[in-house]
Amino acid sequence: MKQLFILLLLLFTCTFSNAQKVQQSEPRQQKTPNEQMRIKFAEQEAIVKKFANSFDSLTPMQKNMFFTNVKHIMDPEVTKIEPGVNDSDPPSDAIVLFNGKDLNEWEEITWGPGGPGEKKPITWILKDGGMQPTTSSGTAQTKRVFKDFQLHIEWKTPTGLPATVTGQDRGNSGVIIQGNYEVQILDSYTNRTYRNGQAGAVYMQYAPLVNPSRKEGVWQTYEIIYTAPRFKDSATYFTPPRITIFHNGVLIQNNVSIQGPTVFPGIPQYIIKEHGDGPIQLQQHGNPTTFRNIWIREL
Ligand code: MG
Repeated sequence: MKQLFILLLLLFTCTFSNAQKVQQSEPRQQKTPNEQMRIKFAEQEAIVKKFANSFDSLTPMQKNMFFTNVKHIMDPEVTKIEPGVNDSDPPSDAIVLFNGKDLNEWEEITWGPGGPGEKKPITWILKDGGMQPTTSSGTAQTKRVFKDFQLHIEWKTPTGLPATVTGQDRGNSGVIIQGNYEVQILDSYTNRTYRNGQAGAVYMQYAPLVNPSRKEGVWQTYEIIYTAPRFKDSATYFTPPRITIFHNGVLIQNNVSIQGPTVFPGIPQYIIKEHGDGPIQLQQHGNPTTFRNIWIREL
């Protein structure tokens, strides 16, 4: 690498010297050609030595930057935030959606055959260390709407269900993004169901890569990184929504491209409808699934 650097430098200095020679309209021949050549060579040698010494003082990364034309970028300075004491705690730039004390960030929505219905005040309750629906509650949703985000959410499925309660009936809930795209929540510890409908599935579209589920009644976490779709027109994505999910710290969805809104039955022929920013919804599916420590960072 050093030899290449010196070769490039020699080519540059020779070219520069020749250019200077051409620009001399009235060259003064005070010195003999041999003397001129000797002086010029000495000057070039000094320049090469100076830059060679400078090159030697560079770090490997700086030498690489010289050849790849990558520069140190100082501005704008990267925003400094304060992380939580624990990684599950909200960092200083997060919006806390639920801290266990109140439901101020939440409202409720009913679902019917035609989709979402009327909004109404939240009827979920504080219980078992978190928030959970009553038997008559609807789906909870944030009052705020979001586009691209990082979401931290903790949940646990109910205990005490009889063994006869299986499949999609066991601890079913879900995180529904922008009112369209469901990340499944389910007791999937030993409860077998269709793979693209178990916990961590992008419902009916992508099964999780692995199943790191904990037992019913034990707190679990999702870390969700979501990039909202951009639309080409009212029925076509320009770029589809993309999602990455960690379940209990394990990567289970690796930046997958969501094909369209979640539908049931989930045949993969989706009807795409243009939408804007949307809420985070916690599905009421008839199970008292409990949620806690919910925070979000807008990206
Ligand atoms: Mg569900």
